[in-house]
Amino acid sequence: MTYGTVEPFFHQGGFVRVVQKFGGSSVADAESIKRVAKRIVDTKEQGNEVTVVVSAMGDTTDELLDLAQRVSPKPRSRELDMLLSAGERMSAALLAMAINDLGHTARSFTGSQAGVITTAKHGDARIIDITPGRIETALGDGDIVIVAGFQGVSQSTKDVTTLGRGASDTTAVALASALKADYCEIYSDVDGVFTADPRVVPGAQQIPEIAFEEMMELAANGAKILHLRCVEYARRENVPVHVRSSFSDKPGTWLKDASDIKKKESGMENPIITGVAQDKALAKVTVVDVPDRPGEAAQVLETVAGAGINIDTITQNQSVSDDTTAITFTVPQGDLTKALDALAAARESIGFSKTLSDDSVGKVSIVGVGMRTTPGVAATFFKALADADVNIQLISTSEIRISVVIAEGDVDKAVRAAHTAFGLDGSDAAVVYAGTGR
Ligand code: ASP
Ligand code: MG
Repeated sequence: MTYGTVEPFFHQGGFVRVVQKFGGSSVADAESIKRVAKRIVDTKEQGNEVTVVVSAMGDTTDELLDLAQRVSPKPRSRELDMLLSAGERMSAALLAMAINDLGHTARSFTGSQAGVITTAKHGDARIIDITPGRIETALGDGDIVIVAGFQGVSQSTKDVTTLGRGASDTTAVALASALKADYCEIYSDVDGVFTADPRVVPGAQQIPEIAFEEMMELAANGAKILHLRCVEYARRENVPVHVRSSFSDKPGTWLKDASDIKKKESGMENPIITGVAQDKALAKVTVVDVPDRPGEAAQVLETVAGAGINIDTITQNQSVSDDTTAITFTVPQGDLTKALDALAAARESIGFSKTLSDDSVGKVSIVGVGMRTTPGVAATFFKALADADVNIQLISTSEIRISVVIAEGDVDKAVRAAHTAFGLDGSDAAVVYAGTGR
């Protein structure tokens, strides 16, 4: 099966207002910043109004985190946000300088200056409002606007906040929505969204158009290309998003409402599965001999959630004897010790006997709206896994997704097996330009 080509985004009449976001690998050094500046100026010279959101250069955010660690093992989160937000301020200012040298006026703004208002939770603040007055004024003056991504200001404390790792994507979509932009372009180091990670599946194909809900499932289940909250935001506000590479001029992947995605002409088959996602960094916990009565599962899960840990893929075994059961779930690998400690501390009050754990499991998910109307998808998936000699430990599903938890060492081969089984393999090897897909 191959995908057809998509028509480029077509705007009826007048100028287009666009928000472009450039990730860290697109602005990693002085040369890259000048290259991106050129690209932004080209968009402007085509007659468009351009607002740019930029990430910190290369690995700056990680380097700042390391630096903080060396100064103070447990820095206050308020100060950490002051530090981390500086990364995006640097790239925003540098990008504005490079644009000014190309004969256009660019003005850089911090998140706070750009009107990004957030909750007060440092390191993981949510955008609650955008008051883009200064951006509107600058655009009205004919300037190019550069906004430091990943940051805002708390409405209640007036402190600088950051929005969580990878959240410049979310800044971009939120601004596109607030500015009523025609669309939002997210530039990274890959050509778009692929049917699987091209680093794992050489025959992975670029997807020309994908439904918001499919992209949400992929992002929530390990696809790194877009920040999950960015996709949620785009879906809620119906912002068309174009994910593309800053290293080429090729059209990328459009995220749209499912109803706006053109079906193939009749007679041609639409793919049942749109993509395969993987997440290797998971651990599995089983809580044994949990009393089988109402409220016990809630207590177990509350204990883990109370330690600030995200729980996924929960299953409860049918009681073997009359009075106890076992509850199994997955957590991020890095949170396993914390989860086990929290459970150990609550063991007596909950009344279970012990916990079992496995720190090296992974999850493979197949995603596609075609699943709704096609029977037998799970059977095809599980048969492909069986043929690849992959043992399934847990299964979870949504209306448009089937996930399996398996041994971490089996993840790559399971992804390849599923990709082939659903006819997604293409003949051209995908291009990976640089870095991490950020
Ligand atoms: N610089 C931040 C990070 O590395 C935000 C982003 O790049 O989106 O997480
Ligand atoms: Mg990113």
